[in-house]
Amino acid sequence: MPADQTQQSATGIHFRTCPLCEATCGLAIEVEGDRVVRVRGDAQDPFSRGFICPKGSTLGELHHDPDRLRGPLVRRDGRLEEATWDEAFAAIEAGLGAVFEEHGRTSLALLLGNPVTHHLAPALYVGPLVRACATPNFFTASTVDQMPQHLVSGLLWGDSNVFPIPDIDRTDHLLMLGANPLVSNGSLMTAPDFPGRLKELPRRGGRLVVVDPRRSETAARADEHIFIKPGTDVFWLAALVQTLFAEGLVSLGRFEPFVAGLDEIRESVADFTPERVAPICGVDVETTRREARALAGAAAAAVYGRVGSHTVEFGTATAWMTAVLNLLTGNFDRSGGVMTSSPITSRIDDGEPGGGGYRIGRWKSRVNGHPEVNGEFPAASLAEEMETPGKGQIRAAITVATNPVRSYPNSERLDRAFAHLDFHVAFDIYVNETTRHADVILPAPSTLEEEAYELTFMVNAIRSFAKYAKPVFEREGPSEADLFARLVLVLRGEGATADPEILHDELVEEAVGALLDPARDAPGDLDRDEIMRALEALSPVEKLLDLKLRTGWQGDLFGRRSGGVSLAKLAEHPHGVDFGPMVERFPARLKTESGKFELAPQVLVEDWARVHSRLEAPLASDGLLLIGRRHLRSNNTWMHNIETLVSGRSRCTLLIHPGDAERLGLAKGAFCEVRSRVGSLRVEVETSEAMMPGVVSLPHGWGHDVAGLRMEVAARHAGVASNLLTDDGVIDRASGNAVLNGIPVEVVALA
Ligand code: SF4
Repeated sequence: MPADQTQQSATGIHFRTCPLCEATCGLAIEVEGDRVVRVRGDAQDPFSRGFICPKGSTLGELHHDPDRLRGPLVRRDGRLEEATWDEAFAAIEAGLGAVFEEHGRTSLALLLGNPVTHHLAPALYVGPLVRACATPNFFTASTVDQMPQHLVSGLLWGDSNVFPIPDIDRTDHLLMLGANPLVSNGSLMTAPDFPGRLKELPRRGGRLVVVDPRRSETAARADEHIFIKPGTDVFWLAALVQTLFAEGLVSLGRFEPFVAGLDEIRESVADFTPERVAPICGVDVETTRREARALAGAAAAAVYGRVGSHTVEFGTATAWMTAVLNLLTGNFDRSGGVMTSSPITSRIDDGEPGGGGYRIGRWKSRVNGHPEVNGEFPAASLAEEMETPGKGQIRAAITVATNPVRSYPNSERLDRAFAHLDFHVAFDIYVNETTRHADVILPAPSTLEEEAYELTFMVNAIRSFAKYAKPVFEREGPSEADLFARLVLVLRGEGATADPEILHDELVEEAVGALLDPARDAPGDLDRDEIMRALEALSPVEKLLDLKLRTGWQGDLFGRRSGGVSLAKLAEHPHGVDFGPMVERFPARLKTESGKFELAPQVLVEDWARVHSRLEAPLASDGLLLIGRRHLRSNNTWMHNIETLVSGRSRCTLLIHPGDAERLGLAKGAFCEVRSRVGSLRVEVETSEAMMPGVVSLPHGWGHDVAGLRMEVAARHAGVASNLLTDDGVIDRASGNAVLNGIPVEVVALA
């Protein structure tokens, strides 16, 4: 990077977007010399309006964490030791080369974690990495908690990455299932200052209804909280749809000519009357009918289902019914209903509806024949693919910012499987439960040493927004883009010493080539040399970003559109630029082959048979069911090494209703043993009236009590791993998503 790209020892206040979660809050980072002294919410950020949560304010502690790796580690004689970058890449070339030679390329698995999508360089370089790996064994966090939505989006409107986002600032009625945004700050929905936005809802006469087996922090603030048995949201949503048909409340609005499959939907839900589903869900008939009428009668309403309702056995069917409800009540793509985002780095479809459609199952997993969805196999099938001998057995892995040994189901099995890999490259800033097994660890630079632009989550954002920031500190090692490029070049066989510029240049050439392709309706009379000259002084990631910005729907088209955006212009606005709320984009955004909303695609209708058979023969419900929960100070598995976030009383407790606790002889503060089909753990009991009787809850992401970790603070606040209990033998069959909620467990008091 040219010297003028980095601000050296930058005393002063730096404004940038928080990279820790989907909320993308604006931060004001106060620096003295080489120290971060304070992090506050940026009051002038027009999107987040000064909001910050406890995690964001610890970005300085994360930067200065002595356990954060600053250089690579290479395994020598069984121990992870410090090495030079050249030694690390030489070890990767030798290690992966040996595995490929003996077992072929399909013995490699690539695993990506959430932080990949929160940072600019990985978001831009992950595509080339996936291509260079050239393996079908591709796993990401999507099959842990969001693949049902991808699948439903792909099948119903033809684009698996276009998500329906509640228009929270304008809605009159918000129905939420399995979501707790006061703590999570939003999921598949970028809306910084969620608490503030929810507070405004009743002020304009709106209503919030939360459906959850626990009176969560969000449910406690709602106008109405409806307890529901874990994993049964789909039955209740189907009863809402059935009520709409039965009472003549279906109203497709302007999409009437663009909807196919209405009769099939009516038929699918015909048996799901409020009376039939009441004993299954635990929701009374009158509440169900009242909610269906409220959705149909509101001036604008939105139904939003997230992690709790999607990480269950019928996750896809739940996401399907949610989308159907929004469409049948005329609330899809309507102000105040659910809408879709328009990131300014993309162009806008304004042509005729219709496209190539969406397909799954183009290849299948080796052991159990799971179809790929979005090019991925289920996270829950990783262990079996690693353990089952035969051609194509996974023997090497590249893990990027992911901790599957704690975040995938059946932790203990995966822990054993990782220990037996022939070779493992980890891209991570910590030696954690997964990377302790690695042969080489490549740490990314601190997030404050990299350029910042929120690229990925603007596809879920309730407003079109853009903010760019240069690095706060000078980097101690190579850039993240260089690390990705070197790894890609090794995988392509170009050698451990290949110059990363080879890939940087290639990506720019590729992007410019695509832009100028006449078949792609190139904007204006753009010229390659002119573009290259304009990008000359920029860093590799800046070049790729500037290309997207200047040719997106707000772009300056390299001077051809007056007032348009470029990276340079964006940099003049350190608090970011707001481009307005979501706007109507359908039917032009329909990419199904028919050019219509396919309400009843074959994959979902076939999967519905599973739901229907459960209606006929409900499971016995005399045992306890385990659900997860989040905490504001916790971020999946990886921020437990920040003292500020983990200090105080343990938050890793088993929540249980006092009546259940009494029946089982469990005292508050005592320890109990929780057992599931796949494992067991010991944890402190916390009784709470907020729990539905018959349901217990554990937070996820903990369990830092294993040998070999280099996370001193996390080890002192270890907690227990909830995924010791989750079952990799049960998945949402349609999408391959993991089942993390509604796990049958037994809870036993300990002496
Ligand atoms: S809500 Fe998310 S984006 Fe905002 S400060 Fe907290 S962690 Fe960062």
